Amino acid sequence: MPNPTDLPANVRRLVDEIENEIGESAEAAELIERGPGATGPGHAEANGRVEAAVREILVEIGEDPDRQGLVGTPERVHRMYTELTAGYHVDPDRLINGAIFDVAYSEMVVVKDIPFYSLCEHHLLPFFGSAAVAYIPRGRVIGLSKIPRIVEMYARRLQVQERLTQQVADFLQTNLEPQGVGVVMEATHLCAVMRGVRKPGTIMTTSAVLGLFRSRDRTRAEFFAHLDRAAPRA
Ligand SMILES: [Zn+2]
Repeated sequence: MPNPTDLPANVRRLVDEIENEIGESAEAAELIERGPGATGPGHAEANGRVEAAVREILVEIGEDPDRQGLVGTPERVHRMYTELTAGYHVDPDRLINGAIFDVAYSEMVVVKDIPFYSLCEHHLLPFFGSAAVAYIPRGRVIGLSKIPRIVEMYARRLQVQERLTQQVADFLQTNLEPQGVGVVMEATHLCAVMRGVRKPGTIMTTSAVLGLFRSRDRTRAEFFAHLDRAAPRA
C-alpha cells in the first residue's frame, strides 16, 4: 500500500472525496479544480508494468495494440483500475472524523437507494446496484452523508458482494456500537450477464444482520418493510 502522499493525483482526489465532505478539505477542492488530468507530483507513476500487461492481453486476444484506437488503452486501463480500487487507500478514521454524535435516539435509522459500483474479484468485471443500510443507535448516531461513503470505501476494491455487504455492517458495528445493524445489497454482475448463460436482469441480493437485526424478528421485519420486501427468517 503506497504512502497516501505518494498516490497518483486522480486516486488521491477520489480518496479525498470519500473521506471528506465537499468543501471540507482545501486540498481536495484544489485537486478537484485541477481535475483528474492534473500532472505533477503524484501523477500516475507509471512503472509501465500494468501497461505492458494490458498490451500483452491485447496481443493475446488477437488485437493490434498499435492501431489508433488502442494506442492509449494500456495507460487508460491502468489509470481506470487505480481509480476503481481507490477504496483501499481511504482512511476510515478520516472518513468518520467528527461525524459521530451523542443523540438520545433509539429508533431505526434507514438509508436506502445508495448506488454503488464495484469490481468482481473473480473476473475484474463490474457489479453494481444499490445498498440499504440501517442501524438502531445506542446513544450515538453517524452523520447521514457518511453512510454512502462507507459503502464506497469498500465498493472501490476487488470484491465479492457477500464480503462487501458484511464489511459495511461490521464497520458500523465496530465504530458506532449500535444495538444492531442491517445491510442489504442488490446488484447486477456483468460477469454473470455477459458470459455463459445470458440472463439479463438477474439480480443478486445479499444481506448482513447484526445485533437486534439478527436476534429479533420484529426488527428485521421493520427493516425489510422499509425496503418493501418480506423479511427472510434468520
Ligand atoms: Zn465475477
